[in-house]
Amino acid sequence: MIKIGITGGIGSGKTTVCKIFETLGIPVYYADSRAKRLMTSNKPLKKAIIALLGKEAYFKNGRLNRKYIGNCVFNDKELLKKLNALVHPVVHQDSKAWFDIQKTPYALKEAALLFESNGHLFLDKVITVLADQDERIRRVIERDGSSKKDVIARMNNQWKDSQRIEKSDFIIENNRKELLIPQIMQIHKELLKLSR
Ligand code: ATP
Repeated sequence: MIKIGITGGIGSGKTTVCKIFETLGIPVYYADSRAKRLMTSNKPLKKAIIALLGKEAYFKNGRLNRKYIGNCVFNDKELLKKLNALVHPVVHQDSKAWFDIQKTPYALKEAALLFESNGHLFLDKVITVLADQDERIRRVIERDGSSKKDVIARMNNQWKDSQRIEKSDFIIENNRKELLIPQIMQIHKELLKLSR
């Protein structure tokens, strides 16, 4: 089983690309949504988050108060670092266990902060999805109604494309000009060859 990472800046189209890989029968571990689930289901992690951010990090019914957490960390880089240092190792262990039970020639782990969390060190190859910054901002505003300021603040907590490109094995260009499916098919073919 070959372990493949897939990353890219906010709004670059990682999830869109992963959905296409899924249609080829390739399983995908979505690290960001898995992380949110683990933040409520993993008791030691939940305890550590409360110790870091206060009990307001969770609603009375146990659900994650994402808005509160976002307000805490997105204006405080040190606190964000501390939160990531709690969450990333748990996600890493969880994804390791997930990879272990996959039966396909290769499987994908999608993570926005793959390099930032050193997740790439435990993977065989990494794919980066690229799109121009203005296009990414436009897509995210359209997708979830975020403000331009919020999208840029999130971008500022991520690596630049030039840093990602340097460490990637495959690049998928996802501006309006390029077709996604042929690029994905080419990578799929190469990964199947590698797994033989
Ligand atoms: P995030 O890091 O925020 O999770 P992402 O990299 O996973 O973002 P997507 O959610 O896949 O990005 O894409 C962002 C938005 O842009 C979505 O609404 C998606 O439908 C749209 N989008 C992605 N690729 C294209 C494309 N080639 N053409 C048109 N719309 C696209």
